[in-house]
Amino acid sequence: MGLKGERVETTRPGSDTKPPESVFTTTLDKMVRWARAGSLWPLPFGTACCAIEFMSVVSSHYDLARFGAEVVRFSPRQSDMMIVAGTVVDKQAPILKLIYEQMCSPKWVISMGVCASSGGFYRAYHVMQGIDEIVPVDVYVPGCPPTPEGLIYAIMKLQEKIERGEPSHYQVVLDREAAEARERKLARV
Ligand code: SF4
Repeated sequence: MGLKGERVETTRPGSDTKPPESVFTTTLDKMVRWARAGSLWPLPFGTACCAIEFMSVVSSHYDLARFGAEVVRFSPRQSDMMIVAGTVVDKQAPILKLIYEQMCSPKWVISMGVCASSGGFYRAYHVMQGIDEIVPVDVYVPGCPPTPEGLIYAIMKLQEKIERGEPSHYQVVLDREAAEARERKLARV
């Protein structure tokens, strides 16, 4: 991942010869997106075996630090990328939602493994059939268990999305709700 800017050759005033130095230009917006993508702070919501796979990703062999996303935080106010790793039962759903809501914006969610994404093989009354029923998910990681490479790939995809300037799913939901509220207000007038 690198910052894409424009290299501009410069000449010193009063000199015809090209100096060895050059100037790198970009925009503040691009710079902020590049910095955000390269410094994601994950909050792991680990409930089952997927959390073990997550642990291997942040350990030395897979070394998530290579992607700038190894600063694991268990405080929602200090993290911007929630990784839900494992089965989420209905009793845990309000806790997951509360932690998500306490995270500062902009924030992103990765649903790791089939249990978090769809309930997996737990077709049971007490298991959530996908965390996207309560939180907006940006990237889904398939598999049971999902591979460490799969999670790294998901983080890379998220980084690409942030660098492109695409809104998080959270922002999309907020915008849609605001538009619906405006429409309802207009309909009442
Ligand atoms: S997806 Fe598989 S590995 Fe992950 S929590 Fe469910 S059963 Fe465990």
